[in-house]
Amino acid sequence: MEDYLRRLRDGSLKLYALEKELPPKDAIAIRRRFIEEETGTSLSRIGDCSVALDAIVKKNCENMIGTVQVPVGVAGPVIIRGEHAQGSWYLPLATTEGALIASVNRGCSLITTAGGADVRIFRDGMTRAPVFATNSIIHAKEVTDWIAAHRDDISREAESTTRHGKLTGIETTTAGTSVFMRLSFSTGDAMGMNMVTIASAKAAELISRMTGARLIALSGNWCTDKKPAAVNMVMGRGKTVSAGVHLTGEMVERVLKTDTASLLEVNTRKNLVGSARAGSLGFNAQAANIVAAMFIACGQDPAHVVEGSLCVTTVDPVPDGVYVSVTLPALPVGTVGGGTGIGTQAECLRLLGVSGGGDPPGSNSRKLAEIIAAGVLAGELSLLGALAAQHLARAHSTLGR
Ligand code: NAP
Repeated sequence: MEDYLRRLRDGSLKLYALEKELPPKDAIAIRRRFIEEETGTSLSRIGDCSVALDAIVKKNCENMIGTVQVPVGVAGPVIIRGEHAQGSWYLPLATTEGALIASVNRGCSLITTAGGADVRIFRDGMTRAPVFATNSIIHAKEVTDWIAAHRDDISREAESTTRHGKLTGIETTTAGTSVFMRLSFSTGDAMGMNMVTIASAKAAELISRMTGARLIALSGNWCTDKKPAAVNMVMGRGKTVSAGVHLTGEMVERVLKTDTASLLEVNTRKNLVGSARAGSLGFNAQAANIVAAMFIACGQDPAHVVEGSLCVTTVDPVPDGVYVSVTLPALPVGTVGGGTGIGTQAECLRLLGVSGGGDPPGSNSRKLAEIIAAGVLAGELSLLGALAAQHLARAHSTLGR
């Protein structure tokens, strides 16, 4: 240990190179000790890891010093009537926000009382949008025309890099001499960001070669990855999924302690009018809370909460009550790849019955998307109910926050 620390101190060994000389467990321990000494901080809890480290240092985390632990709890059971998820589930939620799981739990109970949530996926396609430079707007038009006329060639090139990635759509747009091409792929059970980036690189090389357009960046931000963007709201990204439930007035009064007219008015004035007045891209009450907590628990990329939590919540009056729904246009989720294989996250996926590749491929990631959408619906019902009953502040203070 001392020899490695000395070499790190004198700069003859780089911090990131420890794994080249040592097994991951030892490399991580020495790196942590070095950082403890450099910063005068004890990191003993960060060093207290239960997950297998070998794959993580190769695939998930560079310069690793340990793990942070996020508490995980369950809400449910919740009955889901999707095309892929059919049955009853406990939802794992990793969070430090007190009252969140209690809130989702109440929504789950209401959904289950109502016989379950309807859930449907309307679109499934991960996107990448390279940007090219052209010489003039005439050249830009020639490039977009070439792309439109050579879809099969672009598809063949892109799909040569992957077994599961299939090109499902190409959109183009321009701004002066810049040409953007938004490629959409079905990605099986992978969330697909690495997969489609690699496939898009091959497609972009072909377009450059054949049209003389210069590839400037594989991501031209029209994808749009991890940035708030109307394009994802309008055109979708990852899974576009809706969940809905029919509630009678009696159920709303018994579980939410309010009435359907109040629920409808809160949704209209807050989620729709308030969000429009704020220029928000989210027309919902707390979708990000559930998306973030389930993403962290289930090994999804937490930065995708940006697009994953775009959500429109609606409350429609029906003769004996209301039909409440959530629509998430851009939910990027997977059950293979990324953080899904890390021990604790894989256990959460197993708890949902969706760990690894599905049969047929894609069925597990779609099931996960449906389950998350039902969780978001539960969160919306509970928070709208609390607001309509003027219970929000009371609920938080009762739970000691
Ligand atoms: P990945 O692990 O890079 O790729 C998925 C792999 O699983 C592929 O090799 C695929 O093989 C294989 N696979 C096996 N069974 C599969 C099945 N049933 N369905 C689909 N694939 C299957 O994961 P990814 O989802 O593409 O990328 C996720 C990672 O990308 C995350 O770590 C995320 O943080 C990161 N990310 C990357 C970017 C970027 O720009 N590169 C941006 C945002 C996030 P085939 O390809 O041969 O089918």
